[in-house]
Amino acid sequence: MLRGSDSYRARRPWPRATQSAPDRTRTLPATCAGHLRHEEPALPPEKSVTAENRLLAALPPAERRRFLAGCEQVGLAFTQVLVEPGDSVRHVYFPTTGSVSLVMPIEGHAGLEVGLIGDEGMLGSSLALGVQVAALRAIVQGGGFALRMKAVPFQRELLECPALQDLMKRHVQALMWQIAQTAACTRFHTLEARLARRLLMSQDRAHSGGFHVTHEFLARMLGVRRVGVTRAATLLQDRGMIRYSRGDVTIVDRAGLEAASCGCYRACKEIYARTLGRCRRLPASRDAG
Ligand SMILES: [Zn+2]
Repeated sequence: MLRGSDSYRARRPWPRATQSAPDRTRTLPATCAGHLRHEEPALPPEKSVTAENRLLAALPPAERRRFLAGCEQVGLAFTQVLVEPGDSVRHVYFPTTGSVSLVMPIEGHAGLEVGLIGDEGMLGSSLALGVQVAALRAIVQGGGFALRMKAVPFQRELLECPALQDLMKRHVQALMWQIAQTAACTRFHTLEARLARRLLMSQDRAHSGGFHVTHEFLARMLGVRRVGVTRAATLLQDRGMIRYSRGDVTIVDRAGLEAASCGCYRACKEIYARTLGRCRRLPASRDAG
């Protein structure tokens, strides 16, 4: 069985972000997700625009309304790069139905996914620490939608909203924990277990039994060769846990997949629940109305 050290040397770069791509809102055509062939990324179906981001849902009602008034909704297209390491953080993103991989680039390799952000989190939390330069590549792994705010008004909101400050601190802590867990998982756990974990994480953020992700994308995220992912996915499919066809994954037996996953999946869920589960008790700021 392959392990995480079975590294995969990059042969092709990621499609560079069309920084303007997130500006394409739901008025654009809704088609299926694109692939890694440098096609123009496609936006997800329009039906997904009603969901919410759970971080923002944890804000007190008046502050949430004020914050949402400063956001715009943008589409997230599969494989779209939102930010590269060293870029200025121009926006924060709060996924509602999409999800974003955080990738640490390594010289000579495609990089390694060290975190996954969905509607439980946000992209750009370094601004809450006063850091305006991105450290990681952010690439869309699940097409969908996000609420987006420019950096300057977000920092203004931080100053005016203690509940948002508290939320950001908790989120940064949970994200740091996820990154550390991923590092340990990559070193010590089998590829089959890591793949099971990764598929569960994708399903959690897709809020659906099925989602789109290619073997090539998974191989890049997991830092292994594509043949390794194909082999591990075949094992999971043969055991009746998933169905995979042309990039469309369906979780058939979630309990079985959880059993096949390493303990990192449950550990990560628990730390998020502990760190962010109390957010609904945050006090409102005095001037929040
Ligand atoms: Zn693990």
